[in-house]
Amino acid sequence: MLSYQHSYHAGNLADVHKHALLAWVLAYLTAKDKPLSYIETHAGRGLYALDAPEARKTGEAAAGILRAEAAFGPDHPYGRVLDAVRARYGDMAYPGSPLIAASLLRAQDSLTFAELHPQEYSALHGALVEYGASVQRRDGFELAQAICPPMPRRGVLMIDPSYEVKADYATLPGFVTQIRRKWNVGILMLWYPVLSAGLHRDMIAEIRTDHPDAAVLETAFPPIREGRGMFGSGLVVINPPWGMVEEGARLDAMIRALGG
Ligand code: SAM
Repeated sequence: MLSYQHSYHAGNLADVHKHALLAWVLAYLTAKDKPLSYIETHAGRGLYALDAPEARKTGEAAAGILRAEAAFGPDHPYGRVLDAVRARYGDMAYPGSPLIAASLLRAQDSLTFAELHPQEYSALHGALVEYGASVQRRDGFELAQAICPPMPRRGVLMIDPSYEVKADYATLPGFVTQIRRKWNVGILMLWYPVLSAGLHRDMIAEIRTDHPDAAVLETAFPPIREGRGMFGSGLVVINPPWGMVEEGARLDAMIRALGG
């Protein structure tokens, strides 16, 4: 039974970290005319309202994007997407990763999303169908196994589980390795929470052992208190584009500088 709903967390600092890096990767790839595939295993609803009761209840967006947005001007692709989404959907609209991808990709690119939760799937379908996306109510791991390597071969697989199932930490390294064997040119991006309990550490160590060329990009949320459950955000990236490690370092410094 799935109970996680991203509406409570949309626009928090983990989203800022993940979404800014995703927008940077997609802007990098779309600088060339060649078409690409974007696939997401755990898509969420795609479009959020930062003034919805769920977002107000946790206050995470207020401490997240509403605090960080001044640091992203029109020079950064994430800043450009935020401006475009607000112009289209209203001042308190916030794009999930599917809408970030749909906003940055072009007619020659393909978009495929899996989402299992019935309400999240229905909202995602409603928001993304006009972009020509394939939106499937299906297990995301199974979808990726079925369609990788995609056509076009150039592209990105975003894996953003909610880690409700603790076994995810143990099974994700094997999943990443299987997908990379099938799709050796794909850029695989796996998000994970940086936790005081350290549950993520063995997972990242195993992925690093199997893929020594992976980039591990982490940040910590100010005020940095490692005693809190989730005190930071991480992305491990297989086949990181040139310059991504430097972009990750810039973003980490920017998030830490937000202060407490
Ligand atoms: N990637 C989204 C974003 O950044 O905007 C947020 C996704 S949220 C962290 C994770 C989503 O995965 C939830 O909406 C949940 O319902 C969904 N989910 C959980 N297990 C899944 C599975 N096995 N396959 C597909 N979706 C799943």
